[in-house]
Amino acid sequence: MPIRPLRRSRASSRALFGIGFRPERRVLISELISQLEVYLDNDAVSEVYRAYVFAAEAHEGQTRISGEPYIYHPLAVAQLLAEKQLDTKSISAAILHDIIEDTPTAKEQIATEFGEDIALLVDGVSKITQIEFDSKEHAEAENIRKMLLAMSQDIRVILIKLADRLHNMRTLESLPVEKQKRIARQTLEIFAAIANRLGVYSWSRELEEISFQTIYPKRYDALAKALRRRESHRRSGMKKLLAVMETHLKEGDVNAQVVSREKDIFSIYRKMQRKRMSFEEIQDIYGFRIIVNNSDDCYRVLGRIHGLYKPIPGRFKDYIAIPKANGYQSLHTTVFGAFGESLEVQIRTEEMNRIAEAGIAAHWVYKSDDITGKQSQAQARQWLLDLLDTQKQVANPSEFLEHLKVDLFPDKIYVFTPKGDIKKFPQGATALDFAYAIHSDVGNRCVGARFNQQLVPLHTRLRNGDHVEVTTSRSALPTPSWLSYATTSKARTAIRGNLKTQRRKDSVRLGRKLLDRAVKTLGTTSRRVSPTRRQQLLQTLHLEEWD
Ligand code: MN
Repeated sequence: MPIRPLRRSRASSRALFGIGFRPERRVLISELISQLEVYLDNDAVSEVYRAYVFAAEAHEGQTRISGEPYIYHPLAVAQLLAEKQLDTKSISAAILHDIIEDTPTAKEQIATEFGEDIALLVDGVSKITQIEFDSKEHAEAENIRKMLLAMSQDIRVILIKLADRLHNMRTLESLPVEKQKRIARQTLEIFAAIANRLGVYSWSRELEEISFQTIYPKRYDALAKALRRRESHRRSGMKKLLAVMETHLKEGDVNAQVVSREKDIFSIYRKMQRKRMSFEEIQDIYGFRIIVNNSDDCYRVLGRIHGLYKPIPGRFKDYIAIPKANGYQSLHTTVFGAFGESLEVQIRTEEMNRIAEAGIAAHWVYKSDDITGKQSQAQARQWLLDLLDTQKQVANPSEFLEHLKVDLFPDKIYVFTPKGDIKKFPQGATALDFAYAIHSDVGNRCVGARFNQQLVPLHTRLRNGDHVEVTTSRSALPTPSWLSYATTSKARTAIRGNLKTQRRKDSVRLGRKLLDRAVKTLGTTSRRVSPTRRQQLLQTLHLEEWD
């Protein structure tokens, strides 16, 4: 359950309590540089600076809808990733992320200037940007999420895209209201959900809050007001509680940092909807997070807290022993607090807290021993595989496996139909499979295909995110060679069926020809052949009569 600390960063506080959108403060290159200097060495920082100069030149003269110079957008995106201490390549790619899409600069040029890895990252982000996934009903959202994850073979691509979307959401006010709402809906269904699944909670929370505020401004304001009213009653109580806990833990000789926190407005709203509750009925809006040095201390603190306040049965969760699928670890317990309200207490180590906020992004943190992108990618996958082992012991491992496979080690290809629907194919599927997936008649009559407006032969393999169209002709027919590049069982069955019919028709044609010739040889052409005679003739030729 996403919970936001009371002492929150400036960046996320803007979206809260109905303050409304304020123009984002511009991020300057000097600020970014000093942020990077904290964790990157000089060479890495000057590499990023070089990317900045290149991007600033490429975007020269361009402005955002708000009127400010374009370069402030990629700088802000880079800064979001720098907050998570991502590696040099991610930061450089973030600065360059709109270059392919919005300037004449080609991918090859980026590769020459900054290397193949950064070019691939920028290209990956551009491909996602080019997809139009609007107009879609709710059911499509899951497919789009899967497609995006499948497309970003390097998970850093999706992290850059999420940061891009977050900055666009922070600066949404410059767009017309209808467009704001459309983008907010898409953000909520797709990007916030992906951030959540990858465990990047600080981003998923903010994406949710801004989206919710944009889609339902009145509901947001009403809840924000109600929350503020309730908070003013509780604040002194919370302070007392916090003091009591701190002293109690100190007495128990545990080194711990206690932070009070409260639920996001969107997660309160979601809970009200899900459980059909009124705001007054919602419990655990307030809670505490306790950060300790090691996981042993987590359990000691848990013991001390349960000694202080009665735990509510059935509400204790040990995500340290059994982490969530995205790597989240923490102990959760709910206790009866001082003012007759239940309080959720989360207990975790510093490291668990970092992963809880950064999720999968935690794996691209720059290390001074210079881990290359590939190695840290491998590390992240290993981490996921380790999780898999842990999860094998839980109740529904097959479902978990399926989830992880589809989302992070994709073996499926997602493409668009001309109507904008998404169709899913196995890896290796071709244009021909696509044609048969539309309809077997379309398959049987197809002669060629277009991928993203480009003509391609039928054996061309589908790639994630392609817009696919097939051309048909009335006179077209499947040939046996089609079986060598149709991979789906639907296509193969249809092709075999059609070939059989074709063979039968050929035989009939041949049979007729033979019959005519036979009749001629027998010298009976001048008269009509009686049915009996015809039957006899057919028998001599070992042919059956077909219609
Ligand atoms: Mn952008």
